[in-house]
Amino acid sequence: MVPPAQSPSTAAVNPSAAGGRQLDRFGRRLHDLRISVTDRCNFRCTYCMPREIYGRDFAFLPRSEVLTFEEIERLAAVFVAEGVEKLRVTGGEPLVRRNLPDLIAMLAALRRPDGGPLDLTLTTNGSALRQLAEPLRDAGLGRITVSLDSLDDPTFRAMNGVDYPVAKVLDGIAAAGEAGFSPLKINMVVRRGINETSILPMARWARHEGHILRFIEYMDVGHSNGWRLDEVVPAAEILATLDAELGLESVPPNYPGEVADRWAYRDNPGEVGVIASVSQPFCSACTRARLSAEGKLYTCLFGVDGTDLRAPLRDGSTAAELTELIRAVWRIRADRYSELRSEATTNRPRIEMFAIGG
Ligand code: SAM
Ligand code: SF4
Ligand code: SF4
Repeated sequence: MVPPAQSPSTAAVNPSAAGGRQLDRFGRRLHDLRISVTDRCNFRCTYCMPREIYGRDFAFLPRSEVLTFEEIERLAAVFVAEGVEKLRVTGGEPLVRRNLPDLIAMLAALRRPDGGPLDLTLTTNGSALRQLAEPLRDAGLGRITVSLDSLDDPTFRAMNGVDYPVAKVLDGIAAAGEAGFSPLKINMVVRRGINETSILPMARWARHEGHILRFIEYMDVGHSNGWRLDEVVPAAEILATLDAELGLESVPPNYPGEVADRWAYRDNPGEVGVIASVSQPFCSACTRARLSAEGKLYTCLFGVDGTDLRAPLRDGSTAAELTELIRAVWRIRADRYSELRSEATTNRPRIEMFAIGG
């Protein structure tokens, strides 16, 4: 197994705009927008929304504070005009937002200024795909990523926090395949002592089914999951486990800034990826902005404060004014949390993953 070249550390570069596009203080362009359509979820994954904290009395956003589909579409159109080429709909659990296919149809109708295709994707826990995969496909959704942490039913039920059976997610995955979403991406968060023994069974299953499996290092997002470094299984260890049984070779990224390191099976079709946000940070290539369900713009997953876009939107700002606001935020962006991760930064206040969208 040949290790990939590590991404260079973020270094200050000339913060000018390239080709009319705004660059941030480290020369990174704005390429992806992740749109959280709700802060609610039907799961209580232990690493994201532990049920002891997010119980029945937890105050999620009232409906009036959540962006409407029309507001999301208006903002997304501004981002696309600014050069965003990839939109990922997420949450909370995006499929609990009522009439989601209507929003997908609105986003699918957006056009890039250069006429090129927009990459429209969705990340879901998969629980509602049996009902929604086909309407989502018909609405113009391009791709789906399903989060699945184990095939072992007791392990999966414990990790999702609501005793949800793995068979139902597998049925949702099958429904996505039947609706024409292929290949599917599967995200697996690996947590030491909890689901490491699921690494190989998940890899064998995904390879057999033709899914692209991506292992995600357990991250210190938010504060409620009680994250500890010793619970992170480093990507190198995951890859060594896979290589020993399945034989891997490195594959170049699909595009500059792709967060997953890609690996192909040496003697078989298929590939896996690792997202090593803790052990091999990739801030230098981070081109993602995030829009929370209440309309705040965050330029880092570990953001402390977002910039409110909802108030200007509701106060009647024009597209040009919103564009200026977004450019001003991006221009001064200097986020590189994962590169600087230390005790001081992990104790800093920051937004929860379900609120910002993964
Ligand atoms: N509910 C949807 C889902 O689970 O796919 C979308 C939102 S969820 C916040 C997006 C992704 O973030 C999921 O793949 C989830 O596994 C991942 N995630 C949540 N908390 C995490 C953590 N602490 N470390 C790493 N990944 C995490
Ligand atoms: Fe819900 Fe996704 Fe967070 Fe799990 S990871 S609690 S499914 S938002
Ligand atoms: Fe991007 Fe922030 Fe993650 Fe670094 S820590 S890769 S800047 S989201």
